[in-house]
Formats: sequence, C-alpha cells, structure tokens
Amino acid sequence: MQAYEKLLMDLLHSSLDGYALFGSDDRLVYANDAFLSLMYVFRDEVGRLTFDAILRRNFHEGRAAHIGSGDIEQFIAYVESVRRSKPYRLFEVDYLDGRWFLMSEQTDAMGNMLLQIKDITKQKQSEQHLQAALYKYHVMALTDELTGVANRRAIQDSVSAELARCSRTGAAMTILLVDLDHFKRVNDTYGHHIGDLALKHCAEVMKASLRPFDMIGRLGGEEFVVFLGNTDSLDAMVIAERIRAQIQSLPLQTPGREIALSVSIGVATQNNNPTFESLYLEADQALYEAKSQGRNRVTLR
Ligand code: GH3
Ligand code: MG
Ligand code: MG
Repeated sequence: MQAYEKLLMDLLHSSLDGYALFGSDDRLVYANDAFLSLMYVFRDEVGRLTFDAILRRNFHEGRAAHIGSGDIEQFIAYVESVRRSKPYRLFEVDYLDGRWFLMSEQTDAMGNMLLQIKDITKQKQSEQHLQAALYKYHVMALTDELTGVANRRAIQDSVSAELARCSRTGAAMTILLVDLDHFKRVNDTYGHHIGDLALKHCAEVMKASLRPFDMIGRLGGEEFVVFLGNTDSLDAMVIAERIRAQIQSLPLQTPGREIALSVSIGVATQNNNPTFESLYLEADQALYEAKSQGRNRVTLR
C-alpha cells in the first residue's frame, strides 16, 4: 500500500462521517468507528452482519432510523428494492432520537457498496426554523392583524381563484359588502381602542354566522367582504340578514357599558363569469342604497 493510501485509510477510519463497505451479498465487510456507533454495530460483528439484520435489530431495540409505517419487514423489502437500483443514491434519514442523516450509497458493477453517513441535524434544524418563519410571515402577509380575518389582498386573491375555478359551472356567486354604521361616532364617543374592539367583535360575530366554506376578509377601515360560492341571491339574503340581526342583537361588551352596533350590507349576485371587481362594484351600489335608506339593513342589487 502506498503511503498516501495508508493515510487515506487512517483518515477514513477516524472520520466523523460513517463509512462502510457492503459486499454484493450485502454483508458488512468494512466499517469505520463512526459507522459502528451510528448503526449500533460491534466491531467483532463486521464480516458477519448483513444490512437487513442491522436494520431489523435496531428496529426491535427502538433506535436508529424512524420507520414511518412501523412495519420493519415491509420497510426492508422496500430498502432492498431500491438499494442497488442505481449506481448512486442520496437520501435523508431521521432517527428516533431526533437526529437527521444524509446517506449515500455508491454501488459498483459487482454490487459492492460504499455507504456514507453524515450528520445533518444542525442543517435540518435551521431549515425547519426557516420554514416555520416563512410560514409565519406567509400567514402574516395574508391576515388582517386586528381582526384575524383575511386582509384585502388575501380575500381578493382567494375570491378571484374561486371564481376562476367555478367559471365553467355557471353557478351563482355572491358577495356581501358589510359596513359598520356610524362607526366614526363609536371612535369619537368611546375612543379608537374601543373602535378597534368593535371591529374585532363584528368580525367574530360574522365568522360565527358563516358556513365553513364561506370566505371573509377585511377590505380596510370598517368594511368587510363575505364571499358565498354556489349561493344564489335568496340564500345569500338569508345569510346577510342573519349577520345583520346577530350584530344588532350582540352589542359590544366593555367594562361598565354595552355599545350597540349595527351594519349595512350590500348583496350582489352574478352567474356570468363574475370577477371580484364586478361583484364588488355592484355590492358597493347596494351598500350605498342600504345606507341611504336608513342603515342597519340588507339591500340586494
Ligand atoms: P356610515 O354609517 O356611513 O358607514 O358612517 P361611518 O361613520 O361608519 O363611516 P365613515 O367612513 O365616515 O367613517 C369610518 C370610520 O372608521 C372613520 C375611521 O376613523 C374609522 N376607522 C377606519 N379604520 C379603523 C380602525 O382600524 N380602527 C378604528 N378604531 N377605526 C377605524
Ligand atoms: Mg361605516
Ligand atoms: Mg366605510
């Protein structure tokens, strides 16, 4: 053996990454110390154990890889079907103790295999933190901070997507434009903080009056939009009237006093390829009528 080959073998042997060689019969013929420790194999077992025996023993001892199905024989059958299916395979494995490993299998023409194992727990954790943060910011970008319902952009996008999805069915699509009555007075009389609580309260009452598949969003200020897919004007009027009545009958409870609230609702229904904008414009007209007819009422366009 050349000097550098000996050096290479020494480094391989003491590497913190696990290295093992399996023969074409899948018997473990070489393993460095890291591999023995990662796969829970004793040094004097090298030359005797096959890969499936290692997997089976670790499974029964409740250690090493997390096997999703919980069925070790099914898992081993799967591993054997893919293990030498390509000259090179790269995959991630999560351990029952929370660690993550990147493993590679390199197979020669005779079926001899070099297995390499790298601990990627740290990288995996930062990836998971990043994903959680991304998810959080994604939700924040779509949510109205005060009321927790969808914000303007989110409701507009969801409604537009839903309209596009249903455009072929010709089903009736309805939106309700809900605007608090004399809301400026609530702010002027009780302060902006109570005004905020009133907005939250109305959003809660509206959510509770809707069906799970209806959508609600805050367009801004004290104006909300509710989207009712597959709903004709008759059903929409029933839902709108329920919202109006609920808000009237559930005043905002604040320490020392109840504050009566009411809403006006404009309803618009279209079934000929409506867009968010076309529905919104009609609902806005209907809302204007509801306001001018005295407020606290539902008007259909
Ligand atoms: P109308 O019955 O005609 O709708 O009268 P209104 O007073 O509700 O309508 P107007 O548009 O005159 O006033 C809306 C008020 O809503 C004015 C604004 O200060 C208040 N407002 C808008 N956004 C918020 C908010 O986030 N919090 C609070 N507290 N008030 C808000
Ligand atoms: Mg208003
Ligand atoms: Mg308004």
